[in-house]
Amino acid sequence: MNNHIKKMLRITDEHLDLTNTEEYKIKGKNTLVIFGVYSPMPSACRNCGSTIVDNEGKSVVVRNGKKEVTIQLDSYQNMPTILKLKKQRFHCKSCSHNWTAQCSIVEKNCHISKFITLKILELLTEKISMTFIAKQCHVSLTTVLRVLKSVESQLPQQLKPRSFPEVLMVDEFKSHASYEDKMSFICADGETGELVDILPSRKLDKIIPYFNRSPLEEREKVKFLVTDMNAAYFQLTKNVFPTAKLIIDRFHIVKHLNTAFNDFRVREMKRLITNKKKSKANKLKSNWKLLLKNQTNISISEFKTWRSFPSPKYHLLTAL
Ligand SMILES: [Zn+2]
Repeated sequence: MNNHIKKMLRITDEHLDLTNTEEYKIKGKNTLVIFGVYSPMPSACRNCGSTIVDNEGKSVVVRNGKKEVTIQLDSYQNMPTILKLKKQRFHCKSCSHNWTAQCSIVEKNCHISKFITLKILELLTEKISMTFIAKQCHVSLTTVLRVLKSVESQLPQQLKPRSFPEVLMVDEFKSHASYEDKMSFICADGETGELVDILPSRKLDKIIPYFNRSPLEEREKVKFLVTDMNAAYFQLTKNVFPTAKLIIDRFHIVKHLNTAFNDFRVREMKRLITNKKKSKANKLKSNWKLLLKNQTNISISEFKTWRSFPSPKYHLLTAL
């Protein structure tokens, strides 16, 4: 049975014995707890190199109790799984050195198994949030960041240049990546909607070097740069995409017009109230939804009664 469970958990260390499995509630979550013992006999003292038994047959390196550690394993059947492992401690009579056996499924001084570390690394290659990865792996966000940091030295120093679509849309969004900037920068292909890249900061001094990494002939392929009315991005056409035409996204234009119209409605309402024309002001107040409605969605044929235009003074009216 021990071997079957080890196979299922992909533990290959022959000196690790699993003794029991139980289900407990830990921090409010049902958790699968596996108990195990790790006790490989060393061939010599780790410190002075003495053999286990001396020439006279007396033991030099002896077992010296066990230390229990909790190791987090990858969740099993969607249930958080931990391994309570008793690791053998040793004592060398020759040099009085004490040490604990090190198990291969976990790094030294770490309580998260290598399987989880690998899972985190694999998920980090996907376009998903780190918070989501932390939740999936039942670890803290700090752990995910630490795993990411651990591979930093293996990343290429210079990022590769890249190609850009003919229509490049740029915008910013709130990403909570607050270590650099509250807002992150996003760019996408305007024709397919496909994501091109996300940058941690929307600041120009970060964005311009990022784009300028690619050669001019690649950047000249961008024919249209679609942006909101943020003046900062206008400079991108000057510095980065010299052949691109600047287009203001109609979504942003409509949004600005809507906001301006709504502000006007509120101002007018206040004016009517100060002029003691409360019933007129109320008409503007209660019909705000209709006033901001898209013109194409307004029915011109449906006659009905309106609360702010009561009969008998008003008859059935259409929305327009
Ligand atoms: Zn020793």
